[in-house]
Amino acid sequence: MKKLKGFGASPGIGIGKAEKIISDTFSVYEGKKIHSSKVEEEIKRFYDGIKRTQEEILKIKQATEKLAGKEYSEIFSFHISILQDKNLIEKIEKIIKEEKVSAESALKKFVINLNRDISESKFLKERKKELLDIFEQILINLTNKDEEIKLLKNKIIVANDLSPTQTVSINKKYIKGFVTSIGTETSHTVIIAKALEIPAVVGVENAMEVIKENDTLLIDGYEGIVIVNPTPSEIEKRKLKEKKIAQIKKKIYILKNLETSTLDKKKVELYANIELPEEIESVIKYGAEGIGLFRTEYLYLKRKDLPSEEEQFLSYMKIIEKMGKKPIIIRTIDVGGDKFISSFKGPEELNSFLGLRGIRFCLVKKEIFLTQLKAILRASYYGNLKIMFPMITTKEEVIEAKKIVEIAKQELREKGIKFNDNIEIGIMIETPSAALISDELSKEVNFFSIGSNDLIQYTLAIDRVNEKLSYLYKPCHPSILKLIKLTIENAKKNNIKVGICGEMASIPEIACLLVGMGIDELSMAPVAIPNVKEKIIKNYYEKMKEVAEKSLNFNSHEKIIEFLKESLN
Ligand code: PEP
Ligand code: MG
Repeated sequence: MKKLKGFGASPGIGIGKAEKIISDTFSVYEGKKIHSSKVEEEIKRFYDGIKRTQEEILKIKQATEKLAGKEYSEIFSFHISILQDKNLIEKIEKIIKEEKVSAESALKKFVINLNRDISESKFLKERKKELLDIFEQILINLTNKDEEIKLLKNKIIVANDLSPTQTVSINKKYIKGFVTSIGTETSHTVIIAKALEIPAVVGVENAMEVIKENDTLLIDGYEGIVIVNPTPSEIEKRKLKEKKIAQIKKKIYILKNLETSTLDKKKVELYANIELPEEIESVIKYGAEGIGLFRTEYLYLKRKDLPSEEEQFLSYMKIIEKMGKKPIIIRTIDVGGDKFISSFKGPEELNSFLGLRGIRFCLVKKEIFLTQLKAILRASYYGNLKIMFPMITTKEEVIEAKKIVEIAKQELREKGIKFNDNIEIGIMIETPSAALISDELSKEVNFFSIGSNDLIQYTLAIDRVNEKLSYLYKPCHPSILKLIKLTIENAKKNNIKVGICGEMASIPEIACLLVGMGIDELSMAPVAIPNVKEKIIKNYYEKMKEVAEKSLNFNSHEKIIEFLKESLN
């Protein structure tokens, strides 16, 4: 058994025998002569081949458009334009006529010459792959030899590279996947493989050397792994993974478009937590109704300099582009604790979680904060953005942070830059002190979001990154539920919205408990949404309220969890 690593280009698990494709169609020129009386007939055969290729590519284009959208099907417009290029086609006709050779030979000669021209033209160089792809299709149609790929059964194709046309020609029913030694996640071939749902791993550098014809291959398109001659237990493990993923997929598909309301029609908002704009695809896939937490500090990590206002603005715009008018809560930079930026070397802290973290950092490094606020405000003109401050412990911090928002607004105003002047401002309730003074704090802001990860850490005095203490990490500890209850009550009393974006919101039973306690919105990792949604829609709000009330009388996390499991559907 050997494991090879590449990019997981198209998700899925495929098992089959290796079939190596070595494409050297145009490497040899045989120059097959024909009799002069056959020239006209040969030219007609050549044009028939072009026509057939055109029809095929048009079909492929339409199929791709249906499968993946117009954006992807446009790849084939270039193919069609080449087939309609009279000038080019006539050159091949001329070779048949003048050299009295077969259409195949004329085509090969033309491509060999073209290879020379390609190296002299930048445009042709960039499109070389597509050009060869088209001529290969014509050749296949001339020889009347149906492409071998279509006939392969239970095979995994191993090739140096596959063209988009070859990929589309792969019959999904027979081929179990493909492995190529070149290619990246964004190559056209990969885009099409994804649309066709054929498992694929690309960029496996040594694939052609290591894999032998007829080796048994197991490819994992999720992780980008190819296992050559896998053991039975490895096959079992991957099959199980595939089964689990298939169940989740089915659930996602069914649940995605359902509204999240309880059986007695209480609407619950399910939002997503993200770290980078790229995650927006999952947000859409799992049907989140908004972004409840964008952990913007990730834009500052793993780099030496600071992101500029423009760069940050563009990151927010990327999200707005996909979310439209749906709410997006941008949490201002939360560094310190376990996340540090290289451009700021603060004093060594013995306990960084209790140090210069979150809003404390922003109020010290005001220029960094101001730049971020300006970027958020600029983007707020285009989408439904809200600002949220992390790690609040006092009312003064909120007032001070809001003052800086005002400075940011003023600077934009002076430059004539538009923004949403009524942008909502909220805070995270993630310290016991914030929960305890939530009545006062709610008078200063438009919304709360409970950060239970830190609330648990600070209330139970357990370092959240110390795995030795993980057994103490109990979201339903009565002290936590009491702080959450108090926060919700104070939010309601002062008519502001209250959500939760800590991990506990993603546990289906606890999510129902939180809804019963009066939470308006639950935000979690996108992938957690289907399970939480399923639980909410299977239960009554009245029952959740009753369960919440009773849960507050139990004296341990374990008893509450047991009670929730028993009481909810
Ligand atoms: C939290 O503390 O619960 C939270 C959501 O924020 P983070 O995990 O980023 O600290
Ligand atoms: Mg936090």
